[in-house]
Amino acid sequence: MTAATPYENARRMFDHAADLMNLDGGMRNILRSAQRELMVTFPVKMDDGRIEVFTGFRVQHNIVRGPAKGGIRYHPSVDIDSIRAFAMLMTWKCATVNIPFGGAKGGVIVDPKQLSRAELERLTRRYTSEISILIGPDRDIPAPDIGTDSQIMAWIMDTYSMHSDHTVPAVVTGKPLNIGGSHGRNEATARGLVAILREASEALSFRVDGARVAIQGFGNVGANCARMLEEFGASVVAVSDSKGGLYNPRGLHITQVQAYRDRNGSLDGYPEADRISNAELLELPCDMLIPAAMHSQITTQNADRIKARIIGEAANGPTTPEADELLFDRGVFVIPDILANAGGVTVSYFEWVQGLQEFFWTEREVNAQLERVMVAAFQNVLHLAQERRTNMRTAAYLLAVERVASATATRGIYP
Ligand code: NAD
Repeated sequence: MTAATPYENARRMFDHAADLMNLDGGMRNILRSAQRELMVTFPVKMDDGRIEVFTGFRVQHNIVRGPAKGGIRYHPSVDIDSIRAFAMLMTWKCATVNIPFGGAKGGVIVDPKQLSRAELERLTRRYTSEISILIGPDRDIPAPDIGTDSQIMAWIMDTYSMHSDHTVPAVVTGKPLNIGGSHGRNEATARGLVAILREASEALSFRVDGARVAIQGFGNVGANCARMLEEFGASVVAVSDSKGGLYNPRGLHITQVQAYRDRNGSLDGYPEADRISNAELLELPCDMLIPAAMHSQITTQNADRIKARIIGEAANGPTTPEADELLFDRGVFVIPDILANAGGVTVSYFEWVQGLQEFFWTEREVNAQLERVMVAAFQNVLHLAQERRTNMRTAAYLLAVERVASATATRGIYP
């Protein structure tokens, strides 16, 4: 039997919540499918004069509660199925933390590490032109994801602005500060997750300081999370990137690991740790496990061997629904992606608001508002989970799907 795809998994989770809510058949069919899907095929001039043709996507799952919102991924594994899945997750994520956005996702099938900076800029500008029939500050607002960063957001903003004959900062979030980015956006996903891990540890009478943490993925989210958890007194025993991981049961020195990665381009060869694979990292003896890389990492193949007590899903879709059930039965407290990593989209919302108002907040204000949103969302989901005697993922879905369904019912069906 072939493994379920990310979209099949996302729909399964939605169906499970819809069953528990006795969601009406018509509403279920509306929310089960993406509203708009765009596939684009476009040429890019490479540095050596060749022309290469790339394929990209932008999917808007739902825009009932506000403009569509979601990242853009540059990765060889991008396909329409995973982009559909992540667009749907974005709808539920924005609803879980109750910010007025719908859900979208985009991506290009490319390994950005194989492109020069100039090629990456030309690819980004052409992709932006191709999807500009969908995006816009009131319509659909992209943000960074795997393989994209603040510079790429700047090129998107500039390209869109050139087409509009005026500067449109609110068309993307995750921009550099000097062109309307928000303080705290780079660290927002990690900061939100750390706030939630702190709440979770209080709820479970468990201490973050002294806890052993394993983190898969050492990019924007994974590395910031490692640094912040270390500051909280946790011991980060393992981290990894696409080439593999590092393990030191006495704890890694995160600033040194980061400096080594910045110097060498990868974690490979870092001296004060054992080399481990990404699969081994997930099964290490630890208290908290943070998948912060790709989807479908925790499956029925390894869920039984996971030793962590808490899993904080920084990545989107890292756990399959079958593995989720196994973990719940074993008493592992899984904080689902649509709650755990919602700090990024929350500060993206703050950045969008600041851009539209042309009035900018201090980092302290951003972080305080982020904390408020994340703590409230965690407590709402936890109470619902306790009330319905279900896991945190199902509770988050119940909350989110109910918010989107009730907004749809209130607006009514056009015409
Ligand atoms: P990033 O590109 O900065 O980092 C990704 C990390 O994962 C890198 O260390 C990379 O080497 C590693 N990686 C790539 N392929 C891998 C593989 N096959 N196995 C193991 N590691 C691999 O991306 P990011 O922004 O840190 O995003 C990480 C995850 O968090 C993604 O799932 C993303 O969707 C999710 N997320 C990010 C944000 C955000 O604000 N950046 C918000 C919400 C969710």
